[in-house]
Amino acid sequence: MAKEELECSFCGRKKPETNLLIAGLDAHICDRCITQANGIVIEESKQSNNSDLSAELMLKKPKEIKAFLDEYIIGQEHTKRVMSVAVYNHYKRLLQAPTDDDIEIQKSNIIMVGQTGTGKTLMAKTVARMLNVPLAIVDATVLTEAGYVGEDVESILTRLLQAADYNLEKAERGIVFIDEIDKIARKSDNPSITRDVSGEGVQQALLKLLEGTVVNVPPKGGRKHPDQKFIEVNTEHILFIAGGAFDGIERVITKRLNMQAIGYSSISSDDNVDNDNILQYIIPKDLKDFGLIPEIIGRLPVLTHMDPLDGKTLRAILTEPKNAIVKQYKKLFAMDDVELSITEGALEFIVSKAIEYKLGARGLRSLCEEILTDAMFNLPGSGETKLSVTKNYAEEKLTKSTLKKLKAVS
Ligand code: ADP
Repeated sequence: MAKEELECSFCGRKKPETNLLIAGLDAHICDRCITQANGIVIEESKQSNNSDLSAELMLKKPKEIKAFLDEYIIGQEHTKRVMSVAVYNHYKRLLQAPTDDDIEIQKSNIIMVGQTGTGKTLMAKTVARMLNVPLAIVDATVLTEAGYVGEDVESILTRLLQAADYNLEKAERGIVFIDEIDKIARKSDNPSITRDVSGEGVQQALLKLLEGTVVNVPPKGGRKHPDQKFIEVNTEHILFIAGGAFDGIERVITKRLNMQAIGYSSISSDDNVDNDNILQYIIPKDLKDFGLIPEIIGRLPVLTHMDPLDGKTLRAILTEPKNAIVKQYKKLFAMDDVELSITEGALEFIVSKAIEYKLGARGLRSLCEEILTDAMFNLPGSGETKLSVTKNYAEEKLTKSTLKKLKAVS
């Protein structure tokens, strides 16, 4: 066959009419048909993913959810159990077939109370990873009532759509993690003194979203693109997880416990109160006393607390989770054919500094980074095949000034 007679076996275009004609065994395909076919493949796989979604979700029982969380998160037993049940119930609600018994299962949105760096975000991320649903992480502090400087609450759903690659069906089964929910607490117990732009108004705006409603969402985010078409997002099946440090809430809890001890309740004064972990006694009323409005508390019915991280937990966080920090560094070095080992003494030293400088779990990574940066700079290409980090080595790399610097940024 003469060269110019070659044609695409799919659309029949002659070679000169195409940009590219690829030869197969007995056939040819042009660039346009490749693009079109690729589009079909992507669409097909999206559809099969969606229909798989329900089946996939159905499989995970609370114990399996917990076991998955255990692989990534150290400790926090209580929250992991509560979370497993809440997530299970949430997706059960989502998968239920319509019935005529008038029993409507309510959403099990969750609120986690715990100091920063105790794993609240990690918890939400891990649940989303396990369920393979999109996750949007938003900071409540940037949210404002419509009409004020800042982001409208709808921007939360813009993020979720983006996380779902604009697949609406996936977004509507996704998870939203609202961080720093405590920062939109009402500042004063008296709601009427001034209009509280950053606080109560945002809480009000969030209510509908949490409960389940259809929202017009600007797909590219609010104000910069005023002409865009809105996408209607139904939040009924979106799981909301809120988190916050609620600094000072221990005082609210202690006060309540003391009152109960004096007065009328079952907790008597000689009941042992664990003063190192007051948060474990938290009840919804404490959130109200802190400044969340009752309606918000009602729409976040699953309340749980994060335990503070002690030395033992921090030590485990370094090496035990599936993608533990030390495992990550080992992998990085291994890619340069360097075998990294860190002695127990060095690990204990890192933990002790994280505690001494109050760096928390987040600080563990910064500490490792400081200790290993020189080696990560020098070793690649040097021919060295081993790096052993001892306590002395770590001490040498972590000067007082580096530690102060880490404290300042944490
Ligand atoms: P929070 O949202 O409570 O401020 P994060 O979830 O962002 O805390 O935690 C900060 C980092 O600390 C995470 O990236 C994670 O690596 C680590 N971390 C915190 N708590 C734990 C934990 N219980 N188990 C494993 N890693 C943890």
